Amino acid sequence: MPQELLVIGGGLAGCEAALAAARAGVAVRLVDMKPQEFSPAHHSPHLGELVCSNSLRSDVITSAVGLLKAEMTLLGSAVMTAARATAVGAGKALAVDREAFAKHLEGQIAAQPLISRESARVDALPDHVAVLATGPLTAGALAEELAKLTSSIHLHFYDAIAPIVSLESVDMERAYWGDRYGEPGQGDYLNCPLSREEWGEFYAALISGDQVPLKDFESPQFFEGCLPIEVMAARGEKTLLFGPMKPVGLEDPATGKRPHAVVQLRKENLEGSLLNLVGFQTKLTYQAQDLVFRKIPALAGAEFVRWGSIHRNTFLDAPRVLDPHQRLKAAPHLFVAGQLSGVEGYVESSAMGILCGVNAANLLCQRTLISPPPTSALGGLVTHLQNTATKSFQPSNINFGLLPPLEGRVFKRQRGAAQARRGLADFLAWMEASGLEPAGDIPQLPEEAG
Ligand SMILES: Cc1cc2nc3c(=O)[nH]c(=O)nc-3n(C[C@H](O)[C@H](O)[C@H](O)COP(=O)(O)OP(=O)(O)OC[C@H]3O[C@@H](n4cnc5c(N)ncnc54)[C@H](O)[C@@H]3O)c2cc1C
Repeated sequence: MPQELLVIGGGLAGCEAALAAARAGVAVRLVDMKPQEFSPAHHSPHLGELVCSNSLRSDVITSAVGLLKAEMTLLGSAVMTAARATAVGAGKALAVDREAFAKHLEGQIAAQPLISRESARVDALPDHVAVLATGPLTAGALAEELAKLTSSIHLHFYDAIAPIVSLESVDMERAYWGDRYGEPGQGDYLNCPLSREEWGEFYAALISGDQVPLKDFESPQFFEGCLPIEVMAARGEKTLLFGPMKPVGLEDPATGKRPHAVVQLRKENLEGSLLNLVGFQTKLTYQAQDLVFRKIPALAGAEFVRWGSIHRNTFLDAPRVLDPHQRLKAAPHLFVAGQLSGVEGYVESSAMGILCGVNAANLLCQRTLISPPPTSALGGLVTHLQNTATKSFQPSNINFGLLPPLEGRVFKRQRGAAQARRGLADFLAWMEASGLEPAGDIPQLPEEAG
């Protein structure tokens, strides 16, 4: 018999990891500090607690998160089983009754004879094979232990996320490529100029935009180098005009003149299909961001694939400290799953839990570790965690920008379906090659347009 697997943290990722390893025939000890101790965001005594929204986002398979759900279902996801069993009406989204959902997930753990449960806070990193799934609010000395092992610069405690737009949705009549003082028309930044009048409107909207109230455990101790854009704006107009929106050296080739202000967009992925708004981390509500950032003329009709945010979040600098199988390079017997590994969101955290559970079982049973194809949604998350091109790694939700671009020209409205067709076909082929039986029916996809 292989050694027992320890899973620390019984949230979404931990439950998935424990059940995936048990399905592979490995005995699991699942340890969570609840109900003895609660993080500032957890309140339910049950495992698998949804700490905020009750939505698992889009259930449409031609969306990136819909494709990820389909792949998880094929892998036998416990979170998907619980979600389907406890779904509440939410249009095209999959939302759940959170209490019933947690109880269902906990029921699956209780019904699995290979899993034993323990309630305790773990403060030390184990010296045998384990999955760390303690989430964005990892408690106690475990976070410090991780910081020591990975060097503290590779463990972050806050997310400061700038909004991301798709390149194809930027109005290129109102934007130009160029580095500060670089050759016109060349460079890595896409510059979005504002005239004095446009600036005035943008600034007025920014300083009056609604902000997300801070939770009591989120003290507003922002780093000077990472201040929310609205906090900088509140210090006076010049703070932004001499800061992230400085126009100097960024003359507009269309006019030959220096604009009053410039928003710079930087590549977010290797293909350059996604761009982030440099310096625009923010606590504005999503609704306010929708209003304020569309006052930047080049972004008036842009597709925002992610809004900005700043919140407490413990996560690893994955590209620097994790190997391609989500193991700590400095301690390869330790897998890291869930939000702590550098993905963002309930569905993504759960998905990475399944993968870590399967691979931890493979390690214990001396089988080859597996990695999903990069064209699948699960593979896209793995690619993100290994993306060493990003200087400042930030957790990400799944989006099609994390997958390789489609070959040939595909109309915009057909891209989701094309991504889903390619991803699912490659995922099923990978499952077969890896000896994994599909756990559910193969989902139906829209026919390819002629
Ligand atoms: C305040 C907040 C709101 C969020 N809202 C959303 C949202 O609305 N939608 C969304 O998609 N994502 C949201 N997220 C992001 C994230 O996807 C969720 O937090 C998700 O639950 C992460 O799953 P996980 O399994 O990695 O961690 P968790 O679900 O947090 O599970 C971690 C578990 O580990 C336990 N634990 C922690 N430390 C220890 C320890 N030292 N020893 C033993 N047990 C320990 C905890 O008790 C917990 O049960 C939010 C995050 C936060 C912090």
